[in-house]
Amino acid sequence: MNNLLELSEVTKSYDTGLPPAVDQVSFSCLEGQILAVIGSSGSGKTTLLRIIAGLEMPDLGRVTLKGETMNSQNECVPPESRDCSLVFQDYALFPNMTVQQNVAYGKASKNNSELIDRLFDLTKIGDLKNRYPHQISGGEQQRVALVRALATQPSLLLLDEPLSHLDPELRNNVRCELLNIFRVTNTTALFVSHDTEDALTMADQVVVMQNGKAVQIGSPIDVYSNPSNSYAAMLFGKTNLLPRELIPCAPYSFLDEDSGKELVSIRPHQWMVPTSKGNGNMPSFTGAIRSVNPKGAYQEIVMETETTLLTIHFPRVFSAAIGDPLTVVFNKDS
Ligand code: ADP
Ligand code: MG
Repeated sequence: MNNLLELSEVTKSYDTGLPPAVDQVSFSCLEGQILAVIGSSGSGKTTLLRIIAGLEMPDLGRVTLKGETMNSQNECVPPESRDCSLVFQDYALFPNMTVQQNVAYGKASKNNSELIDRLFDLTKIGDLKNRYPHQISGGEQQRVALVRALATQPSLLLLDEPLSHLDPELRNNVRCELLNIFRVTNTTALFVSHDTEDALTMADQVVVMQNGKAVQIGSPIDVYSNPSNSYAAMLFGKTNLLPRELIPCAPYSFLDEDSGKELVSIRPHQWMVPTSKGNGNMPSFTGAIRSVNPKGAYQEIVMETETTLLTIHFPRVFSAAIGDPLTVVFNKDS
């Protein structure tokens, strides 16, 4: 497979007095891949997407789409000449046009009514064709924006926070639907999100953005279990950042720039109570329970040891009360 998109040292500053919004970012995306760019608010995700779409000009670096350079020193291939489509975070539907008219407005979509009908079927919004954007829900508007973008048959689909307007219970369904649509339409997609679950469930490859920099690029399982720094570790949910010497057997570690220490990231589900057979030489931690929070399928226990606080997720059947003593061991098989 070939690289469809390549970014090389892409840098963009809006304000000379401030650090760049996007800072020397390099990564590539293979044809057919689904790539997620994730990071906290202000980390440069939208700017990166707008640079790829041609809506912003990078100060430095190069964007290549299908082997063709999209920007050189003072010239930029305009957005409408790039073989990609951007679905904006707010969907950017025309309020005075019906769903059908919105979709037909996309470039090169005049002669592909068969494809549009198929996309309406896939996204299950065919019945809404004659409604105006204010007459449909946020989730339905998102589908209209998606159909409008896909109808142009772009080589690369760019999506800015495509699921951010959806209720949590809808998100899971829409993730599956989106994946299915990308597969059926053979679309290469790059989406940005601040929700790491989107990235973990949908992406083939994840780019983690921090203060404009791509601090980690890898598979979802890689970025989740082997983070490159504390920020990346915490982005993917609760974790315990512990000095390497406390858990020498942990498979991964990173050098923490702030403390200069080697740290390991142990997720709350990676603890267990010692078994009666003993747990070999797995390091154990003893302390007192400081809080117990039921979380539905599991409970979150915070335990205070002499040196640290540990967050632990145990099944609800485990009996735990504030003040109880507790000993846990690292469960390397979890
Ligand atoms: P994200 O999408 O990750 O939230 P953005 O790319 O929108 O991040 O923003 C990155 C940084 O650039 C932020 O500090 C933001 O305030 C700044 N920024 C974004 N757009 C503009 C703009 N048009 N003018 C000036 N600063 C901007
Ligand atoms: Mg954004």
